[in-house]
Amino acid sequence: MKHAVPMTLWQSGVLDLLLGVHCAGCEQPGERWCAECDQTVRPDPVEVDSEVWAAGLWRGRLRKAILAWKLDGVESLDQVLGLHLACAIIASGPPESFVIVPIPTTWRSRRERGRHAVLDVAKVAAETLSMDGYRTSVEPAISLRRQTRDQAFLTARMRAANVRGSMVAKRPPIGPVIIVDDIVTTGSTLAEARRALEIAGAWVHASATIASSPR
Ligand SMILES: [Zn+2]
Repeated sequence: MKHAVPMTLWQSGVLDLLLGVHCAGCEQPGERWCAECDQTVRPDPVEVDSEVWAAGLWRGRLRKAILAWKLDGVESLDQVLGLHLACAIIASGPPESFVIVPIPTTWRSRRERGRHAVLDVAKVAAETLSMDGYRTSVEPAISLRRQTRDQAFLTARMRAANVRGSMVAKRPPIGPVIIVDDIVTTGSTLAEARRALEIAGAWVHASATIASSPR
């Protein structure tokens, strides 16, 4: 999913060339994620919908960090965003043992980003949760049956139609599942993932995302 945002200096990489590495949250030079942003942007989970949790709202420095991670492929932000995702998962009241299933990536997104970024962040979240005593693993159990359109400019109804029937879970995980994605907007992508898993016989406990964007 791409977002309709103007090209910033950050995104163009010009600032990187001129000033060296700088913070995705506040653009101060030095590190990709500075100590001040780390202190300011703390996970503050919200229940977006029944059984859908987000670690925070799509605004401010968290929004900037996710944009840098999504659009510029700043992989070093996997760590901080994975921590946020772990907090959203904990907010859902997970069982002691569960499987994390990331939303499948489209070929368009994989080509643009060169990786399945949500899967990588899910792995960081799983490591964090394991250290917290949960027994969890990441299984990319859902695949796309067909490619979907870019959701950015679609209405809620169009989004639902765009993703309906697009996913399949051929080998559903054993045990409770928590579906994860980066951003929840209308919830149609998460609902489709849940449908695919449940048809295959899986039990979905909840869904969790890094941020929740207004509809
Ligand atoms: Zn900063």
